[in-house]
Amino acid sequence: MAEPAVLILGGTSLAMGLARAVSGLDLRAIYSLAGRTEPKSLPEMEVRTGGFGGAAALADYLRRESIAAVVDATHAYAAGISANARAACADANIPLLRLQERPWRATPGDNWIEAADIAEARDKAAEIASRVFVSTGRQTMAEFAADPRCWWLARVIARGDDLPVLSSGEYIYARGPFDLADERVLLRDHDISAVISKNAGSAATYPKIAAARELALPVIMIARPAFEDAEQVGSVADTVSWVQSKS
Ligand code: NAP
Repeated sequence: MAEPAVLILGGTSLAMGLARAVSGLDLRAIYSLAGRTEPKSLPEMEVRTGGFGGAAALADYLRRESIAAVVDATHAYAAGISANARAACADANIPLLRLQERPWRATPGDNWIEAADIAEARDKAAEIASRVFVSTGRQTMAEFAADPRCWWLARVIARGDDLPVLSSGEYIYARGPFDLADERVLLRDHDISAVISKNAGSAATYPKIAAARELALPVIMIARPAFEDAEQVGSVADTVSWVQSKS
């Protein structure tokens, strides 16, 4: 029987911050990644990579690995794994905590246009802009690939065969954190007239929002997926206290 462990569902800088904090505690912890991109760094703990195979398989994994508590520290828009974590933890009767960045709030000078999803954001952008900066993640690029209504400047972390060719636009490759001065130059140099973004909530990716505000550009902000059921916190410190209370 494996020693009881805390499972951290990761893939975000907040999750890495949590992993660093938990690695200093006297407990077994496992960090889990989807494995879509090469991680910049890995925490000093057991790391597993790749999907579990759905909610039922995740519940089996939790039992097999003697998981005592799960922290879902995945991105706010990673709705699939979060739903699976809720179902699996309910099934295996294991406590679950959701750690995610609090959403950004519009401030004076921001011109945010709400969109329910990627397709709506794309269509709203096409109504108002000709050159659009998109940073919604590689899995969303298919929504833009064949659309000639705008020129799409799409930023993703790394090259890969999974990226569709953009019929009108180009990719740039970069990993955050990003800097306000650089974001300003990027938007200016490419003559961008609108930005499409998820409301990630992270300081690392906020500078594009601040740069858009400075340049008086509209930001088409995609709504977060609805989240239900699990206890939720926004800080590593609160999560560490929770983890300690469950170990
Ligand atoms: P998703 O749609 O919720 O996940 C799709 C599938 O990938 C899940 O059902 C699961 O496969 C597997 N998976 C996702 N996260 C996993 C994890 N941490 N460990 C093990 N398996 C995982 O998620 P996504 O939007 O594709 O995001 C994938 C990963 O990238 C997440 O870990 C997320 O934190 C990170 N990320 C996402 C975004 C974003 O905008 N969505 C941005 C930054 C980082 P099985 O069903 O086979 O278990």
